[in-house]
Amino acid sequence: RAWNFSAGPAALPQAVLERAQRELMDWNGSGASVMEQSHRGKRFIAMAEQAEADLRELAAIPDDYAVLFLQGGATQHFAQIPMNLAGEGERADYIVTGHWGEKAASEAAPYVAVNIAASGKAGQYRGLPPRESWRLDPRAAYVHYTPNETIHGVEFRDVPEVGEVPLVADMSSDILSAPIDVKRFGLIYAGAQKNIGPSGLVVMIVRRDLLARPGRPMAKIFRYAEHAAQHSMLNTPNTWGWYIAGLTFQWLKAQGGLAAMAARNRAKAEALYAAIDGSGGYYVNPVDPAARSRMNVPFTLRDAALDAAFLAESEAAGLLALKGHKALGGMRASLYNAVPMEAVQALVDFMADFARRHG
Ligand code: PLP
Repeated sequence: RAWNFSAGPAALPQAVLERAQRELMDWNGSGASVMEQSHRGKRFIAMAEQAEADLRELAAIPDDYAVLFLQGGATQHFAQIPMNLAGEGERADYIVTGHWGEKAASEAAPYVAVNIAASGKAGQYRGLPPRESWRLDPRAAYVHYTPNETIHGVEFRDVPEVGEVPLVADMSSDILSAPIDVKRFGLIYAGAQKNIGPSGLVVMIVRRDLLARPGRPMAKIFRYAEHAAQHSMLNTPNTWGWYIAGLTFQWLKAQGGLAAMAARNRAKAEALYAAIDGSGGYYVNPVDPAARSRMNVPFTLRDAALDAAFLAESEAAGLLALKGHKALGGMRASLYNAVPMEAVQALVDFMADFARRHG
């Protein structure tokens, strides 16, 4: 298989795919695949409970937090979070550090009075807005932020201090890439398709007291408290996604857990940034070094006329999906958990060779 730097849906661990392949036709001695099982059956429920237990162990999730396996992608929850956490006439703070934070705020706007408490937009999202510029509202229903901005490649090193107001984090592109101090958050959510499994699954970790908030009038299917009460089986869940997520959690445990992943991810990112910064301006990453993402590394070539050659040659060399997001152009390498150091080394070697040949 090629090395896959896709921003999402992204590479999955080879071992997870191999196990899923082995089990595809006859899962767990059932005589049918996991996709063909009732979610109400004993086998599936045991697997689902084990996946939750493994995630709880990995991320040290306290008992006063519910874990939900939902659908709709992170985008649906941009809207569903305010429906659940904010009542009529309430306000919420948004810290916007890139494309996804902007989108979260705009999708929330029909349901809550959105206050952009801080924004990196004036600086083209090349760094985090300085803390002195934040205008947090102590009466906000919650504060929303995006710890890692997948497109702009901007990441918070630390969890921001926001006082008593519950902190809501869209961890779609950094969840499980390092240990998580769950107690600092009111609600964590993530589309699965980067660090967990296939798209179509959303993992949510939510403090139980927040589930008691009345929120807005809404159908049961939108209410997180209903999903929690029904163990994420209010309706048919994404059974395949849940199963692959469970395999990924087992894989992460076997790798040494989140601290081990954090060390690897740091080393991978350092190697790539060193190659970019050491290229004498041939490759450029514009992000403030204090806020550079460990997961998504956007970079441009000094000569954009070489972009097409870079993409064609990298793909031919077995390095996939390096094309940058259309908003920024250039290149982007995503270095999620399933991307090994070997892949980063292959990329760095290719970049040096490309620069030599086309310099
Ligand atoms: N939030 C972040 C940080 C993302 O990177 C993405 C990208 O897919 C999304 C939200 C949107 O997720 P989805 O496509 O699952 O709605």
